[in-house]
Amino acid sequence: MHFTGTVYRNPYWPTWPLLEITQGCTHNKCKFCTMYKDVPFKMSPMEWIEEDLKELAETDPNAKTIQLLSANPLCMTYDKLMPILEMINKYLPKMEYIYACTRVTDIKNKTVEQLKSLKELGLREISLGSESGDDWTLDRIDKKCSAADITE
Ligand code: SF4
Repeated sequence: MHFTGTVYRNPYWPTWPLLEITQGCTHNKCKFCTMYKDVPFKMSPMEWIEEDLKELAETDPNAKTIQLLSANPLCMTYDKLMPILEMINKYLPKMEYIYACTRVTDIKNKTVEQLKSLKELGLREISLGSESGDDWTLDRIDKKCSAADITE
């Protein structure tokens, strides 16, 4: 498996499998967060993702859940994300539940129809790092989104 940098696993989700489709965080500027300070953001090459899925198909062929890494893998456009979810379903045909952490900005760059389509492909649960509903606080921590963005 390709795990190239810091890996944070959401403690509320199953511990395994994890699939690194991005490295680091696209924003990486929240003032309270040091999680990815030394990890430049990158998208994983499709070849790595496919190699990891082939490995999982051999070692864990009945996997029903998977967590996408890293900080905000849903930053990808719908057109880039959809083939990855299709590949997950191809190599792990019993897949039921795909998890991912995300930023508000990653949801805003997709239409409702695109989000429904990702859900159909198995993306069932996201952890949205909203932190606060107070604009002054969001500005102070440099979250780069507003309370209205989060509500929307
Ligand atoms: S978006 Fe999340 S991972 Fe990125 S800097 Fe902010 S809190 Fe950290």
